[in-house]
Amino acid sequence: KIRNGHEPEFLQAVEEVAETVIPYIQDNDVYLGKKILSRMVEPERVISFRVCWVDDNDEIQVNRGYRVQMNSAIGPYKGGLRFHPTVNLSILKFLAFEQVFKNSLTTLPMGGGKGGSDFDPKGKSDGEIRRFCQAFMAELFRYIGPNTDVPAGDIGVGAREIGYLFGMYKKIRNEFTGVLTGKGLSWGGSLIRPEATGYGNVYFANNMLKTKGDSFEGKKVVISGSGNVAQFAAEKTIELGGTVLTLSDSSGYIYDKDGINAEKLAHVMELKNVKRARIGEYLNTYPNAEFHKGKTPWNIACDIALPCATQNELHEEDAKTLVANGCICVSEGANMPSTKGAIEVFHEARILFAPGKASNAGGVATSGLEMTQNSLRYNWSREEVDKKLKEIMEGIHSACIAYGAEDDGYINYVKGANIAGFVKVADAMIAQGEL
Ligand code: NDP
Repeated sequence: KIRNGHEPEFLQAVEEVAETVIPYIQDNDVYLGKKILSRMVEPERVISFRVCWVDDNDEIQVNRGYRVQMNSAIGPYKGGLRFHPTVNLSILKFLAFEQVFKNSLTTLPMGGGKGGSDFDPKGKSDGEIRRFCQAFMAELFRYIGPNTDVPAGDIGVGAREIGYLFGMYKKIRNEFTGVLTGKGLSWGGSLIRPEATGYGNVYFANNMLKTKGDSFEGKKVVISGSGNVAQFAAEKTIELGGTVLTLSDSSGYIYDKDGINAEKLAHVMELKNVKRARIGEYLNTYPNAEFHKGKTPWNIACDIALPCATQNELHEEDAKTLVANGCICVSEGANMPSTKGAIEVFHEARILFAPGKASNAGGVATSGLEMTQNSLRYNWSREEVDKKLKEIMEGIHSACIAYGAEDDGYINYVKGANIAGFVKVADAMIAQGEL
């Protein structure tokens, strides 16, 4: 707290882990006296750099770029890049810290990292995005590599940005390697990678529902966000027989009481990915829906809630409303969307609750599969990757049960994910000495 007191999101993420992991350390002699958690909260390396680029008015713009290389005990640093005006060191350290546990849970050999910039992609032309990405990579390339650190996308960094970043890396290094994941299919990308986080989240929620003999069939589902994760969480929900009632972006949420079906979702994808429009424009085509400006969708009655937008978007009061309205399952697609108070409400109500580090791990897991395919110089089929993704999500679910079951039989997935993620990294750190 003394060292990181000015970093609230990072402290929040660490406290959530510490609450469950410290009692576990105290019960297990092998971890005692090794300062494992103190070592884990200190990034191995933090890089901050200047990014200068020229906008369409021929003016020089200056942004700050970062890469937090958190932990490499079990593999090369791995984690996304976020381009959003709110990006700062606290946000990136929280994301990198979570990533260490998440990557460990996937069972694949990936350490944890995260990076990005306070660059705001909204309203920028394609040329401005490209020049920014090139300027960003002109510095980042020094610190990354297929065996060192393999970034991917996150908020504001999708297929287009990964393309520009990869193109610049390849030009500077003169090598074609798997240095980034989320690449296009014709140049090293993996099938299912765009879908993986959203699909994986729904697979995880489905695994939770199965423990109650239940499923998505006939369920009302409220989703926040309308970006990569939200879109494919919605797609899989529809496929499994659920009804998607809401989607959102930073301007507000849409509520379609008739359900956002596959055709309507295709329209949302066109709006968000091609036209880069605001979610409210959905009403121009589907006027029966409602748009609630500046609001989050948690007051809409549902069986399942999938927060897929951003951190701290679901507060204690929202959690109380969800529970009061009969919600039985909350599965986080975003990273840390629920506040500490909200998680306490879910736990007290004994409803199914999955923290992002478990339920959204499908994205990085499939990035891990992309790295493997790049190393093999081979591509697996859609079915093969989807099967592996399902197996990985099942494995994470089982690990959460193994470490998270409480005396009354309730599965505390937060505790389960934290301890299961911790054990593998901690064991590797101990084996490698006090470095
Ligand atoms: P996108 O940029 O594709 O979409 C983000 C969505 O969240 C957009 O709808 C955006 O709205 C909304 N959003 C962003 N910031 C805010 C905010 N401050 N308030 C309200 N809404 C906001 O990102 P992703 O879908 O990739 O990421 C969403 C979440 O999932 C993040 O927490 C990310 O870390 C996490 N995640 C992503 C993975 C991936 O594979 N992509 C993997 C694991 C986790 P707007 O368009 O208005 O900005």
